[in-house]
Amino acid sequence: MFKPKELSSEYKEKILKYFPHAIRGDIVTREVNNILQKQNFTHENTLFGTSCCPDEINDFVTNFRTTWGNIFPLAGLGGIPFTGVTGFNAFSSHKPDNGNLFILFASHIGIDELGKLGNIIRRGMTKKTPTCGSAITAYNQFMDKEFRTSINQRDDEWDEQQKYMETIIEQSLPMITASPEPLLTLTEVVYDVIYKKILKIIPKDFDGNIALLGGIQINTSKDFFDYFLFKEFKIINPKNKEEINLQNDLQRAFNRRI
Ligand SMILES: [Zn+2]
Repeated sequence: MFKPKELSSEYKEKILKYFPHAIRGDIVTREVNNILQKQNFTHENTLFGTSCCPDEINDFVTNFRTTWGNIFPLAGLGGIPFTGVTGFNAFSSHKPDNGNLFILFASHIGIDELGKLGNIIRRGMTKKTPTCGSAITAYNQFMDKEFRTSINQRDDEWDEQQKYMETIIEQSLPMITASPEPLLTLTEVVYDVIYKKILKIIPKDFDGNIALLGGIQINTSKDFFDYFLFKEFKIINPKNKEEINLQNDLQRAFNRRI
């Protein structure tokens, strides 16, 4: 089985420079699982779903699959839950009797050994590739004047998810370009859209507990541990209008390890 390597302290510093509160992905997995188990979320009574970019490298950032089993993927490019209301209804209709749902949602960004955002070297490759490819490609295209004039003439193409990503980026372009770290802001923008859409596809009268863990998946170059910056962790019950905020529990668990 593949076992990731520990990062050098220089590489770790580069990640923490951009994401001071990021935690190694496997530690996030362990502590989140501990907290959820205390809330009576078990392998038997919980169905796990994700709203993360389908990029294969995201599967190992946290690797919740080993605890929770099969995954219901709700997302398409960039992590946006393109399966929509119908996707959520299908997911929730597979929930164990009287059981729970757990959704991990995240945008993602790569960071290489030199501390450069938006690119990593993947296993078996020597060339760096953009990460998140969908969000960065959309952003780069808006920086290209020729693309700006041709963007509306692509209706014959079958690339609906990417077109939606372009719409998101276009709406936030002034904020992204004004940022000292445009790719960091781009990742935040995509995260905000994912979170908003996740809340939209959950019916207001949904009867049951849903654990929501949201954040940014930080992908590292090949064979190293990945990192995760958590931004939301709570259990909601839409019908009862109940909410248990678990952020402090998770932060305390991380603090014990530092
Ligand atoms: Zn991606």
